[in-house]
Amino acid sequence: MAAPNPDTLGDLPRLGQDEGRTYRLGIMGGTFDPIHNGHLVAADQARCDLGLDTVVFMPAGRPVFKEGKVVSSPSDRYAMTLLATAANPNFAVSRMEVEREGLTYTADTLERLRELYPDNVELYFITGADAVLDIVSWHNAERIADLATIVAATRPGYNLDHVVDKIGSSGIDFDVIYLEVPALAISSSYLRDRVRAGQSLLYLTDDAVVGYIAKRGLYTGDADA
Ligand code: NAP
Repeated sequence: MAAPNPDTLGDLPRLGQDEGRTYRLGIMGGTFDPIHNGHLVAADQARCDLGLDTVVFMPAGRPVFKEGKVVSSPSDRYAMTLLATAANPNFAVSRMEVEREGLTYTADTLERLRELYPDNVELYFITGADAVLDIVSWHNAERIADLATIVAATRPGYNLDHVVDKIGSSGIDFDVIYLEVPALAISSSYLRDRVRAGQSLLYLTDDAVVGYIAKRGLYTGDADA
């Protein structure tokens, strides 16, 4: 089992150095348009509950199911994610997906992470339960199931039955952990609607993100969803 090569990891966290133990890397996948406190609480809750060593936020470059919808630029979404997570030593942000050409496929990301990290680093892909509902139809879904444990974060009161049924009947051996996160009552669309209505975002996301959105004039156009 080779130690990770720091030169190839770039902005990814250094993990796996001690061959005598197992490491757990959380990968927080999302569009983050914009990132909000619900995402941050979900990542931290996953880290604590699942014993993750670190969580790397992975803003999607060109999200697959958002073709034809207005999405802020990858660079703006990456910048906001960086600002929101900067103060937390347990969080990192990767440019891997925002820099990759073409549509963003989670299987490609996990495959690349598997190449970069040694076998003693386990991968946990964290995202919203609504997104996980469709995971059986994602590009290379079987490979995703091989590469990572899936962590589905749910809003309070979310009915998981349809997610469990759909994944259970898919014939693909996904390992899914469900995590209820009360703070996910906040959503990106709620923040975008508030900006359009001229309402404050304070305490819904990091202050630096509030400032960035105002400075860049994000979300002031027509509704996008
Ligand atoms: P989405 O459809 O925008 O989100 C669906 C729901 O999940 C929304 O309620 C969303 O709330 C929530 N959500 C999204 N990311 C979350 C996170 N990290 N933590 C908690 N809640 C989250 O989903 P998306 O952003 O396009 O995709 C989510 C992830 O799945 C991304 O990493 C994306 O690349 C991946 N994905 C991969 C494929 C593929 O490989 N074929 C296809 C689809 C999605 P908010 O709007 O508040 O975030």
